[in-house]
Amino acid sequence: MGHPVAHSRSPMIHGYWLKTLGIPGAYELKDLTPEQFPGFVKGLGSNGYVGGNVTVPHKEAAYRAVSARDAAAEAVGAVNVLWLSDTHGFIDNLDDRAPGWNVPGCKALVLGAGGAGRSAVYALKERGAEVHLVNRTLARSQELAQRFGATAHGWADVPKLLLQTDVLVNCTSLGLAGKEPVQIDLGPLKKSAVVYDVVYVPLETGLLAQANKRGHRTVDGLGMLLQQAGFGFRKWFGGNPKVTPELRAMVEADIVAKTPK
Ligand code: NAP
Repeated sequence: MGHPVAHSRSPMIHGYWLKTLGIPGAYELKDLTPEQFPGFVKGLGSNGYVGGNVTVPHKEAAYRAVSARDAAAEAVGAVNVLWLSDTHGFIDNLDDRAPGWNVPGCKALVLGAGGAGRSAVYALKERGAEVHLVNRTLARSQELAQRFGATAHGWADVPKLLLQTDVLVNCTSLGLAGKEPVQIDLGPLKKSAVVYDVVYVPLETGLLAQANKRGHRTVDGLGMLLQQAGFGFRKWFGGNPKVTPELRAMVEADIVAKTPK
């Protein structure tokens, strides 16, 4: 991604490696104006890309566009290599397990402003949802909300927020085996709402059990783990690791066998 990019020899270099390593991938050039760049980068994953390189004049715009940076990028203030990770896993899993979740005017309520919460807020905003954020430590949710254009609220607002929520996501560590559950009464939640818990041990957390009982569509966190594992694997080892039903069944069986009831 650059402007201009026609001079670039990068497709030749990556094409050589793709061919010699037998990887069925593609590396393309995109000539993007400064006006086009931010929108293109935001839609990178939905356009089928797993990452990319950034060259003149977009390196600083890339620095501003990404949800996380490594220490070198942070120090330099510019970004050259992009890849998709957790955020992609979070949203791919939602697309996969609850197709059609992104209803017109979709409102999402995210609980938790830690690492998982950051990925969720970023990915939901990227897909055009209106995002409301609740966290035990208000300052943390306020900082995150401000960064990504979401709205921060206190826990006391949850019942009111549930009335208008289309997607409820738990990104706190509550509900994890051995921890206390998320204490929320789903009574006011819209019948059509999807409930997503990124916690995946147990597979059916207390929150998901309550949602299932009330007839909501639910999404567990295992798919997110599998999707993001695929991104990591591809980045480290190359190849095209697939999230197969066999892999999911293997991990699912292990969680069920080892999680106390
Ligand atoms: P984190 O950065 O440590 O954040 C933890 C979050 O939980 C914070 O929002 C924290 O609120 C909240 N929290 C912790 N204890 C709480 C309590 N007693 N009452 C209310 N809120 C509480 O952790 P994380 O990396 O975001 O991970 C959160 C959960 O998501 C973990 O269970 C993890 O296993 C899961 N996860 C799953 C995947 C996946 O692939 N499915 C990926 C990443 C994480 P404060 O800000 O107030 O401390």
